[in-house]
Amino acid sequence: MVRAVGRPRRSSESADEDRAEDRRRREQTRGRSPRPLTENRSRNMRAIRRVDTAPELRLRRALHAAGLRYRVDLQVDLPGARVRPDIVFTRRRVAVFVDSCFWHQCLEHGRLPKTNQWYWTPKLERNVQRDRRADDALLAAGWSVVRAWEHETIEDVVARVRRAVGAIS
Ligand SMILES: [Zn+2]
Repeated sequence: MVRAVGRPRRSSESADEDRAEDRRRREQTRGRSPRPLTENRSRNMRAIRRVDTAPELRLRRALHAAGLRYRVDLQVDLPGARVRPDIVFTRRRVAVFVDSCFWHQCLEHGRLPKTNQWYWTPKLERNVQRDRRADDALLAAGWSVVRAWEHETIEDVVARVRRAVGAIS
């Protein structure tokens, strides 16, 4: 079941919250020691709307230019999981995610930070596990999943999305 929501709801915000926070902190924390979240910080993060990343915006523009129409910021309620893909093709049931190499631990660039491993290792592992749970839930419900890495060329990603939605001409 697909339901549009204008803003992430509280009960489903932890993933969005993490993502927004992650995106904001990506530049400033890479290679440095992070400070763990405080309760205040968590509260602030809850108030921040999800942030569109540059790779995601580029992909959206390219898909639109290719004539594809999609939904953004759509929550997909599935048995046992509530997923919010970056881009959704509702009729074709295709969910597209644009994953940051660091936050989603791509095999080429997803190195674990050397400092504060007590913080980063479980956090990044949770991200990856959450991704796999989302994929499993989507696939089990008959959806197709496209996971794009930020290091991929836009042409490659667009081609994969077009294949998934059956828009190959
Ligand atoms: Zn990568």
